[in-house]
Amino acid sequence: MQLRLLSLYPDQMNIYADRGNILFLQHRCEWRGIEFEVTRCGPGDRFDPTEHDLLYMGGGQDRDQKAVARDLVKTKQASMRASLESGAAILAVCGGYQLLGESYELEGEKIAGLGLVDLKTVREPGPRLIGPVAICVDLDGEERILAGFENHGGRTRLGGASPLGRVIHGHGNNGQDGFEGVRQHNLIGTYLHGPLLPKNAWLADHLIATGLEHHHGSRPVLEPLDDDLENAAHKAALTAARNG
Ligand code: GLN
Repeated sequence: MQLRLLSLYPDQMNIYADRGNILFLQHRCEWRGIEFEVTRCGPGDRFDPTEHDLLYMGGGQDRDQKAVARDLVKTKQASMRASLESGAAILAVCGGYQLLGESYELEGEKIAGLGLVDLKTVREPGPRLIGPVAICVDLDGEERILAGFENHGGRTRLGGASPLGRVIHGHGNNGQDGFEGVRQHNLIGTYLHGPLLPKNAWLADHLIATGLEHHHGSRPVLEPLDDDLENAAHKAALTAARNG
């Protein structure tokens, strides 16, 4: 089996250990004998949606996001939509998450996003929403906890889109409505960044299984791994979120 990951803007949208999430996916595949291919896709590049099973876009500063947004809409919008419709897995974190929506408004400027999901982000007055966060997520028919860290100035509000989860501790999309992230078909957007996947190994495996299903046509049952360290990292992140 082979998982083909497309890394979107690895140089521009890469803060808070975003690269580590990709390494983690790679190791979990290779430990199971699954071939892992990474293709970098930067400014000006186009991609063929049939050649990638898992699309990843990380977080970015406002300045980087502005530059990326224009290019994203111009050169990648149609392929992103086709990937979503064909069942590829998409994970977008923080700044990348914001760009999945209609727009990101800040300092009197409205940056157009991909419009893949019905959400909008606005940099409203008030402090940045920073700190450890835990959310309750229902994926694969099972309720699980995602624990991580958030740091965003933008407040995201979902239109018709479904949230990824409900906030247990922390701020989430906007610090008000109790929602965190977005989920649509096999697309996940979230504000939880830093080493999101190493702290939540089950989410990495969910993405791997979804990507393999996209490539090979059936969803594999993944061989369990020794997750003692990952479980300890999850526990520490959850404790940090509980303690605020
Ligand atoms: N620039 C965005 C914000 O502050 C996203 C930040 C990030 O990706 N950490 O809202």
